[in-house]
Parts: sequence; structure tokens; C-alpha cells
Amino acid sequence: MPYPKNWVQGQKGSMENIQDTSVSEAKINFFDLTMDQLKEKIQSFGKEKYRAQQLYQWVYQKGVADFSQMTNLSKEFREELPKLFEFRRPELVSHLKSAIDGTQKFLFKLAEGMTFEAVLIPSKDRLTLCVSSEVGCNMACRFCFTAKQKLQKRLSAGDIVSQFQVVNEKIAPEKITNVVFMGMGEPLDNPDAVFNSIKILNSEWGLNFSRKRVTISTSGLVPGLKDIAKSGARLAVSLNATTNEMRDFVMPINKKYPLEVLMEGCREYYELAKDGITFEYVLLNDVNDTLEDAKRIKELTRGIPSKINLIPFNEHPGSEFKRPASKKVFEFQEHLMKMGMHVLIRRTMGRDIYAACGQLRSVYEGKPTHMTSDVMTTPELTQLG
Ligand code: SAH
Repeated sequence: MPYPKNWVQGQKGSMENIQDTSVSEAKINFFDLTMDQLKEKIQSFGKEKYRAQQLYQWVYQKGVADFSQMTNLSKEFREELPKLFEFRRPELVSHLKSAIDGTQKFLFKLAEGMTFEAVLIPSKDRLTLCVSSEVGCNMACRFCFTAKQKLQKRLSAGDIVSQFQVVNEKIAPEKITNVVFMGMGEPLDNPDAVFNSIKILNSEWGLNFSRKRVTISTSGLVPGLKDIAKSGARLAVSLNATTNEMRDFVMPINKKYPLEVLMEGCREYYELAKDGITFEYVLLNDVNDTLEDAKRIKELTRGIPSKINLIPFNEHPGSEFKRPASKKVFEFQEHLMKMGMHVLIRRTMGRDIYAACGQLRSVYEGKPTHMTSDVMTTPELTQLG
């Protein structure tokens, strides 16, 4: 689907005109609604269900977020709609581009004032958008910067879809090819909004974005794994340690869902989804990077078609862990590969703009949104807006 012109040009009725940050309790945010939910609302309004498809087409395909311009609806209906719905999305307050690798970071602000980030990561044949599902996070992973900020807000489906839309507008005529829920927050701690946002992205009447190009990354809230299978999205699990003792320490969620329970959940996911799993493994120097750890990864994932994604730890102010030397990272990868595993080392992207894994955190909590050189040596930044 070519991106609609009026979507990016800011004409009357386009999305550019709707940075409405006022909080309105009474009206429903159109962007929060799945097609089924919209149909239900429309019917309760005494209208035919197919009107919902027309509305979706106007908004998501033609980029018109102004009911008065929806000319295939009756005048009376056009006048009624704004009483029920409004178009609300978070405001884009900062847009940075890494001078090193082209990674772009987008900082959004909710009407309530809280901020969160989305990161666009270019690679050879992909443009992957890493979205946030929550402001802050309660999982308390010891190595993660977002975890230093307790959960402030679970984002709505519309807040998630808006990250996708706003970024697509900014990068037009290029387009996002993949979405990963690896930004701030734990997606399975906010499942309704996350799964609804995938339905909205996927709707054939709307953005028509394939579910198979969406990956949900979880710290391991096991009961939610089957819901990911049902959603049609792909699964990534943050493994990060290979014994319960160590995982309890680095990821407290392990006390609730220990490794054996997590891996059983992963097997059930595989049975249901018939899709392999990516296991993310943050390499922490002298903590989880031994040959024994590599062997245990092999054991733990036995029977599950898996890809291992090694993420050398990204340091942040006050972090108690260290990133292993590159040599150690490659050795760890080699151990796994010798055991027949499919292993990738995730390149660190966007370090100069503080956009790397585990470095996202809200601006009001004291993190620089515009990187300063005392935190990381960096070439000059490109401030895009
Ligand atoms: N809550 C979800 C998604 C957000 S974190 C989850 O836990 O999967 C996305 C990924 O970044 C996770 O694999 C996490 O382990 C990793 N990560 C977090 N902090 C990191 C850091 N400082 N360095 C490297 N990776 C980190």
C-alpha cells in the first residue's frame, strides 16, 4: 500500500493536524479500536457494520482523520461521529538520528505528560520499529535501564499504533517492514492493548501489516505465551541466564516462573504456533558468559526450533554489570554454534542517541534525550525535529 500523500503533508484532515493532547474521558479514541470493537460501537449507534470498514479505510488508508471529509457517509452520520469518537495520539517531542548507524529514536509524550520511546533500526533489507508497550516497567530486571523507573502507565492500543503511524509518516516514502515489542515495558503485562494493537495493524481494511512481521519479546510471563501463539505474532523470550539461581538474581520474574516452567511454556507455544522461538541472551561479563552457560542454553532449548540472539550488555549510568570483551562474545557464539545452534550477535545500534537495548527510559527520570558527550563519546547528533 503506497503511503497516502495527505498523510504526510499535513493537509486539512490529515494526521498532521491531530496532535491533540487534551485528555477527554468522554470520547473514545478511534485509534484504540479494533475493527470488531468499532463494528460493535457503530451497531450500537444503529448503523450497518460495514460502515466500520469505511471508517477504517478513511483513517488508515487515506490518512483522513476528519469525519466531515468522509464523503461516502451520510451527512447526518458524519455529524454524529465526532460526538462519540476523537482522534488522539501521543505527541512526537523529539526525533534523533544516530550519526553512526542511522538508527532513529522517537520520543513521545502522552497527554498526562509521561514520555516513552520508539526506535527505528535499519538493516540490509529491513526497517524494524522497536515499540514501547509501557512507560516504565515492573519486571525489575537488574541490567535494564527502563526497570529503574517503576511502571507509570500501560500504553493503550492507540498509543502503540500511533508509534507505528507517526514513524511511518516521518520516514515516508520509506516504510517500516517489521515491528518488535522490545522497547520500554513488558508486553505481557499489558496484553489487551498489545494484542489489540496487532489486530489494528493487521486489519485488511487498515494498515494491512502482516502479523508474521510482528515479534513480541517477553521476560517470561508464562501464561501469556499461548496468547502470543493465538495472536499470530512471533515470540522472542529474554532468557538471559541458565540457572534458576542466576536468573532469580538478574530477572526477579524467574521466582514466579522458573526456568523449567518457562521452557515448558515455550514448548507449548511451539506446539500451538508451529513457529520457532528467538531466545535473547544479554551477555553480562563474568556473570552468564561461561562455557557451562553455553551448554545449558543448548540443554534448555532442546526440542524447540530456536534462534539465539546474543546481546552484549549495553552499559548505562549506574549499571552494575559490564559488557564482555568482544573476544569473549565471539567465543560464546562459537561454543553455541559448535553445538549446532543458530546464533546471532545483535549489533549495538544507536548508542550515541541512547537507543540501544535496555537504554530506553523516560526523559523526566533524568536520562538525557539528547545525548551529551560525558555519557558516551559520540559524534555530533542529528536533531531532526
Ligand atoms: N520486557 C521485554 C521487552 C523489553 S527488553 C523483555 O524482557 O523481553 C528488550 C530486550 O533488551 C530484552 O531481551 C532484554 O533482556 C534486553 N536488554 C535490556 N536491558 C539491556 C541492556 N542494558 N543491554 C542489553 N540488552 C538489554
